[in-house]
Amino acid sequence: MARTKKVGITGRFGARYGRKAKRSVKIIEENMKKNHVCPKCDRPYVKRQAAGIWKCRKCGAVFTGGAYVPQTPMVKSAARSIRDIKVEE
Ligand SMILES: [Zn+2]
Repeated sequence: MARTKKVGITGRFGARYGRKAKRSVKIIEENMKKNHVCPKCDRPYVKRQAAGIWKCRKCGAVFTGGAYVPQTPMVKSAARSIRDIKVEE
């Protein structure tokens, strides 16, 4: 369970699964476990509950998002479309 600088969080896998796979997991999981900014109160208290479910520990807001990050590029383009539709009305 060595968490060296190189393997970081993927140190839990020991010597298994290879460097490439572990590096991908490292990038995704480190990003996932960061505190994300809440869309409701703008504070960095958002944590992942389950795949696609995010919860703010400050204001208690629960919302859906990407499986590993609350804001995916798809979410952004969808939000833009919604905003544009509202403007047209
Ligand atoms: Zn919040």
